[in-house]
Amino acid sequence: MMDASDNQIDGLRLLLSGKLMEGADTVDVENPSTNTLLAKAPQASHAQLDNAIAAATRVSDWKQDDALRRATLRAMSEIMSANRDSLALTLSLEIGLPFKVAQDEISASATFLLYRAETEAPLDVLHDDARQRVEVVRKPIGVVGAIIPWNAPMLIACEKIATAFAVGNTVVMKPSPLAPLTLLQFGELVSDAVPPGVLSILPGGAELGAALVAHPQVGMISFTGSIRAGQAIMVNAAPGLKRLSLELGGNDAAIVLPDADIDSVAPRLFMGAFYRSGQVCAAIKRLYVHRDIAASLIEALRNVAETAVLGDPFDPAVTFGPLSNRQQFEIVKGLVDTAVSQGGSVATGGSPLNRPGNFFPPTLVTDVDESNPLVQQEQFGPALPILSYDSIDDAVDRANSTQFGLGGSVWTSDVDAGTAVVRRIQSGSVWVNRHGLVLPDTPFGGMKLSGLGRANGNVGFDSYAELQTVSVAKPREAKSR
Ligand code: NAD
Repeated sequence: MMDASDNQIDGLRLLLSGKLMEGADTVDVENPSTNTLLAKAPQASHAQLDNAIAAATRVSDWKQDDALRRATLRAMSEIMSANRDSLALTLSLEIGLPFKVAQDEISASATFLLYRAETEAPLDVLHDDARQRVEVVRKPIGVVGAIIPWNAPMLIACEKIATAFAVGNTVVMKPSPLAPLTLLQFGELVSDAVPPGVLSILPGGAELGAALVAHPQVGMISFTGSIRAGQAIMVNAAPGLKRLSLELGGNDAAIVLPDADIDSVAPRLFMGAFYRSGQVCAAIKRLYVHRDIAASLIEALRNVAETAVLGDPFDPAVTFGPLSNRQQFEIVKGLVDTAVSQGGSVATGGSPLNRPGNFFPPTLVTDVDESNPLVQQEQFGPALPILSYDSIDDAVDRANSTQFGLGGSVWTSDVDAGTAVVRRIQSGSVWVNRHGLVLPDTPFGGMKLSGLGRANGNVGFDSYAELQTVSVAKPREAKSR
């Protein structure tokens, strides 16, 4: 078993213009496994935010120095890899991920940084002939305000830092008050590797986030979080016409076609819904199964669910830790209780473990209809409603019947048929026989209320850039006589 007492998580400091410093205040961070105080984390003041933005604005050679930016991203990635276990320990402690899953998040975060260190910036040459050269170049926007949720703080932060830096921007980052510790530790680790002013890490609440959005020197907001906060940010950013990347909530549907091989798909569907206890933006949050196979698939999923081991994130036998915070635990419990009170049946799970901490087991709920809140709302936790359908058209209509549009998937033995069906789902990413795969080179983002813009790949690069069209007329050659 890992010894969680190895880590120093009290006394972490803010990173502000290359210096580590105390916050103006502190916030209590709770241990989700015990509901006791884990650490007091520093919170930044508005004056510290202003100083960080001023420092980020002053940085000059960074914009032009592609080699420096690549070297910085590479160094940050190497520091993360070298400190993987220490960062994973903090991540497990503050959001309750099993230690192995936390290690995977740190490794993936380092990969996102390295990807941008090694990838060429896109350049479009539209014409290059005797008459003219016309090209589209990517220029930095300036200061990017990065606002981070609690569910995957390290990965989401690195996704934003990597692309913002690759374009030549600087970053002022605000972690969530529910999960600031891993990002503060990361800031301490990379403080000497990052030129002063290029990255500041200032935890605070929604009010500090709103000040970051409204600040006149901030040119872009890259936000990941709830739809409600995303809408507030869009309004707040309107007077400055700020560039926005909004990665918002999802309510992804998975549709299982009648030819699916139940034994093969059940474990993968289960992971698509319950990985990280369902606290994933693009998790399966509604499952539509053809009526002919519904009973068999529910049974197979129940068997997989009952192999889950809940408990201490540092016990290697444990596959599911607690939910990351009490607020999310109450949301999930409330939705399951409501589903049951409205006639839903619980195939497995259904109520919290009788012990301290936010432990809620993987829960399968059947006999609910489309109007049930567990189907309509984003549960963001380990409770999956399973609905049956008779015709594929009906399943697709129901999958598309919400305001969400982040991800969706189709499960089948016939990949051509699956591809044809999945293209009809109105979501930014759709998958056949997998769900939720997000890679540094692959665009990701939401349709409808699930977001604005795309992260990752060349499209993601453009989200953090001002595109400039450079059109040059070439001198005419003298006419020959
Ligand atoms: P949240 O919206 O409550 O908070 C996210 C961050 O925004 C926090 O740092 C918070 O302090 C800040 N914030 C809140 N209101 C703000 C405002 N008005 N102005 C500026 N900042 C503000 O979200 P959460 O509960 O931390 O995260 C869970 C949500 O995030 C879920 O809906 C999930 O689907 C979504 N999410 C989406 C993606 C994606 O890529 N689409 C990824 C992860 C999580």
